[in-house]
Amino acid sequence: MNMEHIETLLEKKEFHCPVCGNRRYVTDHGHHEWTVHCSSAEARFWDFERGTMAQRMAMQHWDQSRLELFFTVEDVLRKLE
Ligand SMILES: [Zn+2]
Repeated sequence: MNMEHIETLLEKKEFHCPVCGNRRYVTDHGHHEWTVHCSSAEARFWDFERGTMAQRMAMQHWDQSRLELFFTVEDVLRKLE
């Protein structure tokens, strides 16, 4: 299981952000567990001023775009077929 496999999956529409439809990217990973989030500027809550409505909305966007992927190498190969 490597980064290239995940990148290929994330290209697919069904793995895009449910909020805005933008591509998601890997923000954290363990052995068989990958966390992805929206790559859109609107989800980058840390770019907004703290305590503002805009920041709250961005944070919500970020949370809603969170997806955890649990894969074995076999799972990934099957999906890529
Ligand atoms: Zn999004």
